[in-house]
Amino acid sequence: MENDIQEILLTEEQIQQRIRELGEELTKEYEGKDPVIVGVLKGVVVFYADMIRQIKVPCQMDFMWISSYAGTCSTGKMDVKRDVSVDLKGRHVLILEDIYDTGNSLDFTYKHLMSKEPASLKICTLLDKPSGRKPGITLQADYVGFTIPSAFVVGYGLDFDEHYRNLPYVGVLKPEAYEK
Ligand code: 5GP
Ligand code: MG
Repeated sequence: MENDIQEILLTEEQIQQRIRELGEELTKEYEGKDPVIVGVLKGVVVFYADMIRQIKVPCQMDFMWISSYAGTCSTGKMDVKRDVSVDLKGRHVLILEDIYDTGNSLDFTYKHLMSKEPASLKICTLLDKPSGRKPGITLQADYVGFTIPSAFVVGYGLDFDEHYRNLPYVGVLKPEAYEK
């Protein structure tokens, strides 16, 4: 698995250090607000588990699972496969995402959760790839771990063909790895 990595973009230490910094900011932001922290599956699970332990206020955990509409990925049409279970009306909600690329998923998730009338809705993404953004998507993440170039990355929850999610760092795959 490690042999398939061409370059490590973010080391385990860099990621953990940045999560501690974000944790301090989010702890201040959500003091006394009992937020609901919503993770977007599956890519976020590793980041979610580390991030939540650095947000040192009472909070609730919830998850959503979304997918591209039946084979029409390029249209950007999304579908809720599993919705949140906590009632978000009047609650302070924080979305945790693995990566903000074209923006299709985050835009969809944001609108979907806004329709539940939260008191506030903010976004924290581990990675931001602004170069990938689809024209017309103007949503800004409130908290960003790292801004990265346009390469396709794996590890720390992010997959290629459902593999590499368990790497502790974020890396770029060797071109040969795509043909396996
Ligand atoms: P979006 O393009 O809608 O902003 O991102 C949708 C999803 O595409 C992300 O949640 C992630 O699962 C996947 N994605 C986007 N860029 C990358 C990448 O560089 N690597 C991996 N593994 N997944 C990505
Ligand atoms: Mg995702």
